[in-house]
Amino acid sequence: MSRPLACGAVAVHSEELEFSTQGDADVIDITTDVERLVAGGPIDDGLVTAFVRGSTAAITTMEFEPGGVADLRALLDRLVPVEGDYEHNRLNHDTNSHAHQRASVIGASDQVPLIGGRLALGTWQQLVLIDFDDRPRARTVVVQVVS
Ligand code: ZN
Repeated sequence: MSRPLACGAVAVHSEELEFSTQGDADVIDITTDVERLVAGGPIDDGLVTAFVRGSTAAITTMEFEPGGVADLRALLDRLVPVEGDYEHNRLNHDTNSHAHQRASVIGASDQVPLIGGRLALGTWQQLVLIDFDDRPRARTVVVQVVS
């Protein structure tokens, strides 16, 4: 499963994926897209980072099925309601402070080990992109493999 680094050399491979989202906590399973991308790349063993550009979207792992998606949305509605006394909205004449806060809580990236060209995810564990903004967006996910 492991091999020594050749003279401390580090290999890095980066690519980007594009997604159209509906916003409002749209949860998109990006596992297959990321898997396909790294499977065609030059690195078979390392650490994959999936990072979404933007401050109102997030990446995490979950069991991607309708119940889990609904429960995660309900949790975030309780934790960070859409309506609230938000400074970001007041100071910037904006409407999406809840989206920024939710994105910060979950985080913009997640990492998955890559072993033998495959993501080391569990059977019921998918990599998901969540768009919290209050309108449809085009999102770029940077996928980087470091070995
Ligand atoms: Zn904003």
